[in-house]
Amino acid sequence: MKEHMRPESLMMSYGYKPELSEGAVKCPIFQTSTFVFKTAEEGKAFFEIAYGIRKKLPNEELGLIYSRLNNPDLEILEDRLCLWDGAEDCAVFESGMSAITTVLLEFLKPGDLLVYSNPLYGGTDHFINHFLPKLGIHTLGFKPGEERNGLADLIKGSPHADKLAMIYVETPANPTNALIDIGACREVADYFKTDEKTVFVAVDNTYLGPLWQHPLKHGADFVMYSATKYIGGHSDVIAGAVLGNAEVMARVKTLRTFLGNMCGPWTGWLLLRSLETLKVRMDQQAANAKEVAAFLSTHPKVERVYYIGHLDSNDAEFEVFNKQCVSPGAMVSFDIKGGEAEAFAFLNNLKLIKLAVSLGSTESLAEHPDTMTHAGVDPGHKLEMNITGKMVRLSIGVENFNDIIWDIKQALS
Ligand SMILES: *Cc1c(COP(=O)(O)O)cnc(C)c1O
Repeated sequence: MKEHMRPESLMMSYGYKPELSEGAVKCPIFQTSTFVFKTAEEGKAFFEIAYGIRKKLPNEELGLIYSRLNNPDLEILEDRLCLWDGAEDCAVFESGMSAITTVLLEFLKPGDLLVYSNPLYGGTDHFINHFLPKLGIHTLGFKPGEERNGLADLIKGSPHADKLAMIYVETPANPTNALIDIGACREVADYFKTDEKTVFVAVDNTYLGPLWQHPLKHGADFVMYSATKYIGGHSDVIAGAVLGNAEVMARVKTLRTFLGNMCGPWTGWLLLRSLETLKVRMDQQAANAKEVAAFLSTHPKVERVYYIGHLDSNDAEFEVFNKQCVSPGAMVSFDIKGGEAEAFAFLNNLKLIKLAVSLGSTESLAEHPDTMTHAGVDPGHKLEMNITGKMVRLSIGVENFNDIIWDIKQALS
C-alpha cells in the first residue's frame, strides 16, 4: 500500500493495527512506562536486539520493552513521518532542540570542525557557538550563497579543515527566507571526505517540511524538525524529530535512549492526530501566504517583502528554489517603512493575528525578529543579514485570507 499511495492518504492508518488494540479505529494513548514480556526468553531476546548484542533474525521485530526505548505511539508516529521525507527511519524527541542537539552530540567529537549556515535558529546558534566549543569542537559559519561560491575555500582557510565532520544548514533561513543549496553542500562535504571519515550534511527543515522540501533527496544525511511548528501545527505541543538512513538513525536512537529525551506517549498521540490534517493545513497556509505576500508588496508603507514565491529568474536563488522547494511556504517577512517604532505600532495594532513567536500553526502569528527571536544574535551579523528594527515576521495560518489581509491593512494604517 505504501508504494502507490501518497503520504496524506496514509496519515490516518499507516503502521497501526486495530486488532492489537481491541479493534479501536484510532491508536490509543499507550500511557505506560513498561511492557509485560510473555516469557523470560522473550525478554532476553528483546534486550539482545535493543542493546545490539546480536543482529535481528529475518522477520524478527524489536519487541516493546520500556517507554524510554520504544512505545507504540512513538513508533507509529515515526513510521508515518518517514513517508513524507522518504526516510528509512525516524526518531521523535521532546523538542526540536533535543532532536538537533542529539545529532550534533552523536556525530561530532573533540577536535572536529562543524560548518554551519547563518542565520540559524537562536537556540541552535547558541548551542553551536557557546556549548560545542566547551567540548573542543571548532565551528565556522557561512552565509547563504557561499555554499555555491567559496565555501570550499572558506573551509580550506580554516586550520581545522582536515577535521571537517559536518555541514549544518537551515534553509530557508529564519527570518529572511534566504535559500541554501542543499545539493551544493553535499558536493562540498564530499570534497572533504576521506577514506577514514565521511562528512555529514544535516538540514533543519522546520520552515518548509515535511511537505515542501525533502532534503534527503538532495543529498542530506539528516533532516531535523521542530515538530512544534507545522507537524504539531496547533501551538499546543513541543516536540522534535530526526530522519535519515537506518545506519545513522540507529546511532541517533541509541543516544536518545541514554539521554532519555524521547517524547512521551501523550505528545506522540497529539502529533499522530496532527498528522491527519497536515497536508490540508499546510496547503491552506501556503495559499493564504501567497495572497498576503502579494498584498504586502503593493502597500505604500511596506519597503521590502521577504517571500520566496517572489523570486524571479534574475535572482541567484531562483534556481535553488526550483530545484529543492515544492512551494514557497507560509512564512512572510517584511520591512516596514521607518524603524522599530513603526514595526511596534503595527504589531500592537493587530487584532486577529497574535503577537507571539513560533510558527507553522493554524493561527497567524506576528513577531519582531530584531528584539525577539533574534535578540541574542551578534548585532554585526544581524545587520549583514538585514535583520533590523523595521523587520516584521509573519507566520500565516488557516484563517480566511481576506480577514488576515484586513487585519494587516488596518494595523498598517
Ligand atoms: C522552533 C525551532 C527550533 C527549536 O524547536 P523547539 O521545538 O522549540 O525546541 C529549531 N529550529 C527552527 C528552525 C525552529 O523554528
